[in-house]
Amino acid sequence: MLRGSCLCGAVVYSAAGPVESASHCYCTMCQKQHGAGAGTYANLARAGLTIEQGDAFITEYASSSHGRRAFCRQCGSTLFWRSEESPQRIAVTLGTLDAPYTGPVERELYLDTKPAWLPVADPD
Ligand SMILES: [Zn+2]
Ligand SMILES: [Zn+2]
Repeated sequence: MLRGSCLCGAVVYSAAGPVESASHCYCTMCQKQHGAGAGTYANLARAGLTIEQGDAFITEYASSSHGRRAFCRQCGSTLFWRSEESPQRIAVTLGTLDAPYTGPVERELYLDTKPAWLPVADPD
């Protein structure tokens, strides 16, 4: 069972899992929404996701014809990504998990737009 929450604490969720895959996504929409080099997500069954608290704070943005990006309207934390084309799946952001994620991140998506500045410059 994964548990997560947003930065302000208004939204609390749990996800039964299991995590089917985890990925760093470098698409330009993830970069814009996260304000970072990637969005990192664990993909799992939507039926296992429970909003424990703060449902009224969750806002969804339709970033494409099928993509829906959920975030906390009070603090801006990115919470979930889902596709209207795959209604039984949802992706939760690894950065909002309350305990550090210990599983592997096996996939990198949209490598063609991976920022050149990620992860760090050569240290010397
Ligand atoms: Zn919040
Ligand atoms: Zn993306």
